[in-house]
Amino acid sequence: MKDVQASSNTLSLLPANTIIMFTARPPLPQPKYLPIQQAEAKKLWNKNPDIILVSADAYVDHPSFPTALLGRTLIEAGYSVAVISQPDWKDRSGKSFAEFGKPNLFFAVVPGAVDPMINAYTPALRKRRDDAYSPGGKLTRPDRTTIVYTNMLHRLYPDVPIIIGGVEASLRRFAHYDYWSDSVRQGILADAPATLLVYGMGERAICEIAHRMASGVPANEIRDVRGTCYTMSVGEYRKSDIKGTQLPAYPLVSEKPDFAAAWKTFSDADGIIIQPHPKTVIVQNPPAVPLSTEEMDRIYELPFARRQHPAVKETIPALAPIQFSIITHRGCFGACSFCSITHHQGKQIVSRSEESILREAKRMAKMPEFRGTISDVGGPSANMYGAHCPKWEKHGACKNKSCIGCPSLQDGTARQLALLSEIQKIPKVKHVFISSGIRYDLIPENAEGDAYLKTISESHISGHMKVAPEHISDRVTQMMNKPGEAVFERFRRRFEKLQEGKQKRQYLVPYLMSSHPGCRIEDMVKLALYLREHNMYTEQVQDFTPSPMTLSTAMYYTGLHPFTGKRVYVPTGGEKRIQRAVLQWKDPKQYDLVVSGLLKAGRRDLIGDLVPNKGIPARPPKRR
Ligand code: SF4
Repeated sequence: MKDVQASSNTLSLLPANTIIMFTARPPLPQPKYLPIQQAEAKKLWNKNPDIILVSADAYVDHPSFPTALLGRTLIEAGYSVAVISQPDWKDRSGKSFAEFGKPNLFFAVVPGAVDPMINAYTPALRKRRDDAYSPGGKLTRPDRTTIVYTNMLHRLYPDVPIIIGGVEASLRRFAHYDYWSDSVRQGILADAPATLLVYGMGERAICEIAHRMASGVPANEIRDVRGTCYTMSVGEYRKSDIKGTQLPAYPLVSEKPDFAAAWKTFSDADGIIIQPHPKTVIVQNPPAVPLSTEEMDRIYELPFARRQHPAVKETIPALAPIQFSIITHRGCFGACSFCSITHHQGKQIVSRSEESILREAKRMAKMPEFRGTISDVGGPSANMYGAHCPKWEKHGACKNKSCIGCPSLQDGTARQLALLSEIQKIPKVKHVFISSGIRYDLIPENAEGDAYLKTISESHISGHMKVAPEHISDRVTQMMNKPGEAVFERFRRRFEKLQEGKQKRQYLVPYLMSSHPGCRIEDMVKLALYLREHNMYTEQVQDFTPSPMTLSTAMYYTGLHPFTGKRVYVPTGGEKRIQRAVLQWKDPKQYDLVVSGLLKAGRRDLIGDLVPNKGIPARPPKRR
């Protein structure tokens, strides 16, 4: 309780592994489903809910969905919760935002499992019509969901604190490049009238905010919770003695060299980070202490129904692929330049205990819908389960050093294999698959690594092993901070060796990316030739999307590498389409783009019959 009541002028440096989330109040009984209608909430809580979660995803009671995870965690921490899912934001009366009236403590706007802009637009900026997180798969969420929802709630309830969080707010906490408007936008707290922003995985911070408010501290005085950002007026900031790393102010930070420098400063900074804006100053407290194993076990074992709310009749497509999946850990030390997981979940791995995962699997296997297959046992990278560094508890992960290849990193793959084998023994479980990515560069190149690869490929993939080299050209993989061609090629050969003499072979499915900063058409041709040579043709190519806050996005916007200051080639516009098409050389629809790519790359020799059976045909294939 001491931390709960800490002075709002001192930063509460919670020690690791303090189970503060669940010690301040007794837990409330967990309902079958979180209430999404007023009658349900009244019956359950008999009063206005303490906290109302507002989400653009339809509510699915599964731990992979942030509304369910946060909602059940808050109930466990002693607070009554209700969910407004997919409110009608076009209705100016705001009726659906008022379903439960005023919460006792605050509204929490958590738009969804994925970034709403990435969910709503293709990389080529075409509006999608479908939304896997919505009943019937229909897109209903507004662009910039957090800003729209927060403004509506503020208009209806100007005196109720609003806390924003989730991927959208978290990755836009400072001025950021916005691909969809091709401009630098101010930090989201300057646009959304919220009291606090929770960044990263938010359970610890949101529970601490609730505990403070329940003990009588007004939300706008809570300025020392780790994992949160708040705003100050410009005048207050000038008079304050707050100390921290200052980022270049918005809009000056829109200048490309300043943006690149700001990104580096942000990435290197420890402690408080401050960014002045014209009408406000955004202050970020240091990140929340990661959950302990006991805390992870506790929240992932809450009684999730693993179904959509029965009041929602149309199917929510995102549920089926993950209904029988298990999250084993959080965090990723891969540090791929284009990925924001490290900014969200952190670099340090926190693994759940084997006992907890087994209990979850047993519970799942008893569900009437369970058909014997657990579709995924994993996390951001499945084979980081159990990985550990003695430094993590005391000092956190090293900032500017990679854990991959570091002698201090303790491998967790033996734990992972033992766990998979125990899950396999549970009655009614026939298959235990891994569909999360596997970091092939983490598999040791020795007999132990070979045994690991053999077990995983023979018993825990459904015919296709998904790996993410992303590219094969070293100058591109360098920009992506991924291992280069030599490492992938050695892995591919080991995998292929395992297939020798097998009647039923398995296949490698590479995840690939086009148009990443630093990638030229020549690099895509090199990648296409590699795939063709090794019979790995795939049309699953991701066109690089500059999502906020990543290193790759900073390179995309500025044309500079923030760490070296060197110029970086950035493919844009029509070239993005060509780069993607080059890998789809078998698709007649892409013929003209492929030819134009080959000509630009100076590879006329690959068109037509100049190289028999090696190029693309001289004329478009018939289907065209
Ligand atoms: S010592 Fe090595 S493994 Fe540990 S955090 Fe630092 S880089 Fe990572």
